[in-house]
Amino acid sequence: MSRVLRSAKAGAPSAPQPANADLGAPSAKDLLQDLQLHQTELQMQVESLRATQIELEEARDHYETLYEFAPVGYITLTATGQVAAINLTGSILLGCDRSKIVKRRFSQFISPAHQDRWYRQFVRLMKQAEDDPIQIDLELTRADGSAFYVHLNCQRREDTRQGGLLLVAISDISQSRRDDLQARIAGVAFESQEGIIVADSHQRILRVNHAFTQITGYTADEAIGQHPPALLNSARQDEAFYRGLTDTLLKHGAWHGEIWNRRKDGSEYQISLNITAVKDDAGIITNFVATFTDITFRKQAEEKIENLAFHDQLTQLPNRRLLIDRLKHALAVSARNRQFCALLFIDLDSFKTLNDTQGHDSGDLLLQQVAARLSACVRASDTVARLGGDEFVVLLEGLGKQLSDASDEAQALGRKVLATLHEPFQLGSFPYVNTGSIGITCFSGDRLDTVEEILKQADLAMYQAKTDGRNTLRVFDTGMQTRVSQRATLETELQTALREDQFRLFYQPQVTENGKVYAAEALLRWQHPQRGLVLPAEFIALAEETGLILQLGSWVMDCASAQLAHWAMLPRMKDLSLLVNVSARQFHHPDFVGQVHAALDRHGANPNLLKLELTESLLLKDIEGTIAKFKALRSHGVRFSLDDFGTGYSSLSYLRQLPLDQLKIDQSFVRDVPGNANACAIVNTVLALGKTLELRVIAEGVETQEQRNFLADNGCSFVQGYLFGRPMPSDEFTTFMDANAER
Ligand code: C2E
Ligand code: MG
Ligand code: MG
Repeated sequence: MSRVLRSAKAGAPSAPQPANADLGAPSAKDLLQDLQLHQTELQMQVESLRATQIELEEARDHYETLYEFAPVGYITLTATGQVAAINLTGSILLGCDRSKIVKRRFSQFISPAHQDRWYRQFVRLMKQAEDDPIQIDLELTRADGSAFYVHLNCQRREDTRQGGLLLVAISDISQSRRDDLQARIAGVAFESQEGIIVADSHQRILRVNHAFTQITGYTADEAIGQHPPALLNSARQDEAFYRGLTDTLLKHGAWHGEIWNRRKDGSEYQISLNITAVKDDAGIITNFVATFTDITFRKQAEEKIENLAFHDQLTQLPNRRLLIDRLKHALAVSARNRQFCALLFIDLDSFKTLNDTQGHDSGDLLLQQVAARLSACVRASDTVARLGGDEFVVLLEGLGKQLSDASDEAQALGRKVLATLHEPFQLGSFPYVNTGSIGITCFSGDRLDTVEEILKQADLAMYQAKTDGRNTLRVFDTGMQTRVSQRATLETELQTALREDQFRLFYQPQVTENGKVYAAEALLRWQHPQRGLVLPAEFIALAEETGLILQLGSWVMDCASAQLAHWAMLPRMKDLSLLVNVSARQFHHPDFVGQVHAALDRHGANPNLLKLELTESLLLKDIEGTIAKFKALRSHGVRFSLDDFGTGYSSLSYLRQLPLDQLKIDQSFVRDVPGNANACAIVNTVLALGKTLELRVIAEGVETQEQRNFLADNGCSFVQGYLFGRPMPSDEFTTFMDANAER
């Protein structure tokens, strides 16, 4: 180094030296040399400085590039939170031009829900020591409003002029957060209530969840690597089933169904199973995911509910609902195979009496035993159902293509059922003999029968079997249908007739031996608006069955009482007795006695002139009560005549106990006298009985003089019949009486 430079370097201010200084002063030549040397050194130094400057500039450029294009955004914030600087990555992250970011508050880019957190951290950061960085995860909002998640690495830097700066490095973590969230959701889903199996493309188990272990009893270690059917199958599904399952899976990418599996402990359970094939981008199956739930309990509950809904709880037989389902099915099958089916409607004959007398427990026992016997009578493919009460139905299918064959087979089974029902039952300690009535109808799917019609037909036939004496069977024919619809029409018409006052009472005279009218029988007529006068034979039985007889009977009683009261005012009629027919059902009505009294009182009629005509059938039921009623009415003055005598089964001992006045020989015997010896004998027997019991005997249906003579000759003084007068309306009867008096 030159001296000049050396002294300059020493830094001491060098005083100017005189030109002629002391010895040792450098010569001019030396000085020139030195100067040249110094110049060269300076030049070198300048060059070196220039090179350094270039290096520095390059380094700065490099640094700037690194800064601008860094993988993270860099933001410098002032102590007040304003953006002092931001690199290019940062501005790209914020989706905004740098010029629009600088000088804005950074908090403006933070999503509202995260701003509190930011402020808390910001305040903390600005207070604390320089090199203590803080990390925060926040959601930022871009200029376009879209949100993204960032990780902020913040560090405070001391800066005297600005009160400190905050250096913030921002990295976008949206994607990793999304991945993380998805993984967490997947984890939660995987550990769901459903069993989950993830298998490879060869259907070997890769992974199972906790629910899998709970349901199957196998741990993950035991399951992994296994083939699910081999591990879990209950053997209720065969190989063909699994082949079908795999085929569907490969073809459609999914399979759903219910199958039976077996647990590790050997117990079986039913699952609802979903299998999905997972494919890669090329469409090749990489995995299978199976999810399943144990539905054993649900199935059991369903079965229980179904059993309750479709079976009778007492007998466990199918109930009406299930029967109707089976009937519909039978009709559909029959329409295809053209084979006949049959329905047997079975009703026990005296079930109500058993229930009333022995109690419902005995009744229930009988129903259960009947159910068992019926089931034993039929083939497994036939249906035995209980419709309710004591009504059972047997449905037979596939009875061949000929109606006659089907009918024969159904009747054969019907007879077998009747026989089995008649075998003695043991109801607890109580032995019981039972009978049943059966109605049968045959049907096929190609006729237009509906389920309701078929049931109705069998019911009608059963009803016919009951009418025909019970413990028997009847096959439905269309005549039954006609009769039933006629009955239905008649019933409605009877109700209308009562409402519209279409009934009349006719009066038929009863005469003494010498032809004097001493009484009249009131006989009911129906003045039908279209059919004209209708006789009781056409409607009394139905009125009794339907109970309409109660209203009808009380109308008759009222009308007869009014007639008696009216006659009381006519001298020629005032002593006439009036006989009123009373049906058994009417008589047994608890209020019958009261009704009679009320009718008489209402019109002020004389009870002594009222005679009730009753039939022997009335004496079959409740003898004690019957006698009491007789006595109650008798004490009021009312008297009694026993109608159609000889046709019933009156017990003589009962006859003795009843306060009767008169026996009426049935017209079927009178008709045949004097020609028929049997009829004559019966008439004479009744006459003798009347004498013994001190009862008046009257013969009805006397049409000829021979009949009259025979009766008179044998001591029957009282007669009634066309020979003396037909039943006639009230006014006609009055005229008749006038004429009779004049004779
Ligand atoms: P019943 O009480 O035995 O009545 C006698 C039936 O024989 C009457 O038939 C009468 O018209 C008929 N008759 C009378 N004389 C002769 C005769 O000489 N020859 C023939 N062939 N028949 C004769 P009717 O009026 O058709 O009554 C039939 C049955 O209807 C009655 O038999 C009675 O059981 C019942 N009945 C009539 N009116 C009533 C009523 O108001 N209430 C109730 N419950 N039943 C009644
Ligand atoms: Mg009568
Ligand atoms: Mg009679």
